[in-house]
Amino acid sequence: MQTRFRRAVVKIGSNVLAGDGSGLDPAVMEGLVDQITTLHRSGMEIILVSSGAVASGRSIIRGTRKLDPVSARQLYSSVGQARLINRYCELFDKHGIVCGQVLTTKESLSTRDHYLNQMNCMTVMLENGVIPVINENDTISVTELMFTDNDELSGMVASMMNAECLVILSNVDGIYNGDPASPESEVITEIRRGENLSSYIGTGKSTFGRGGMLTKYRIASKVADEGIEVVIANGKTPGILVSVLGESQAGARCSRFLPSDKPISHVKKWIAHSDGFAKGRIHINEGAMKALTGDTASSLLPVGVVSVEGDFQKGDIVTIISPQGRQIGIGKVSAGSEKAAETAGQKGGRPLIHYDYLYIE
Ligand code: GLU
Repeated sequence: MQTRFRRAVVKIGSNVLAGDGSGLDPAVMEGLVDQITTLHRSGMEIILVSSGAVASGRSIIRGTRKLDPVSARQLYSSVGQARLINRYCELFDKHGIVCGQVLTTKESLSTRDHYLNQMNCMTVMLENGVIPVINENDTISVTELMFTDNDELSGMVASMMNAECLVILSNVDGIYNGDPASPESEVITEIRRGENLSSYIGTGKSTFGRGGMLTKYRIASKVADEGIEVVIANGKTPGILVSVLGESQAGARCSRFLPSDKPISHVKKWIAHSDGFAKGRIHINEGAMKALTGDTASSLLPVGVVSVEGDFQKGDIVTIISPQGRQIGIGKVSAGSEKAAETAGQKGGRPLIHYDYLYIE
């Protein structure tokens, strides 16, 4: 079989694996592992981001006294993650393929060193023919510092690993142009850059996972902007992965986000996914706003800075705020907050954020 990509990230949602509340669905898992095996054998590198730990654990532990949400997440994920990875190991073993577990936290990606360390881990696995099976480590992650959901984690992984495609599998066929439950609604098959579909998308949350279609849409748009194709598809549809990632794309009912033809550098990709770690906010003026959002590559100069919020050091990540108060970008600063405040509005001097370390949303 021919495949369309060299490397892809596949995210499997809780609703695909454990959608009816009775724990992991063996037939669905087996079907997905069989398809990943086919793709792997065709020479494609697959990185799996799999949810389902909490849903699986919840189906096993019953009749406990009432738990607070953090304890519940820790308890269920500790039990469920063990089941989840065991099941993947058994299924891949049957095909003679080795998979390995990567449990991570948002904090483990917070600095460039942490980020490169995670990247190294997955690279060495792939180089040795091992399929990474990634999940957030819900037993130790601190609520305020967690990924919004595994959609966010999978976007980061796709970007970090220079994947050519990210497939987000959920229990719907894609993004609909109306209420998915209404017979008149249809799946939007192709989403181009700059198209805004948020008005079509309901704010409903997944029953068993943390995410919803709105976060999927946001992540998908961002990742496609970085030059990576993103597909949202139904993980329960037999053969879906092979048809989405295989060359023919036959019969794949899904929403496909067309990638930007101007892929961004690896450092910019890291910065694009780092806004959760921002240590401060830089307020800019109209002139800087025009320069940064225009067609030519521009750095943020001290003259474009109006004010500085937060306490940051040289090399930290900050967000960039427009004169209207909207976040328009993220960047790595070349000076700490004191110096940045001192030079704000002044002509000349080094850029506060160099173009190479700047990501405009
Ligand atoms: N890490 C969670 C789990 O394995 C899922 C988070 C999400 O729903 O995206 O259950």
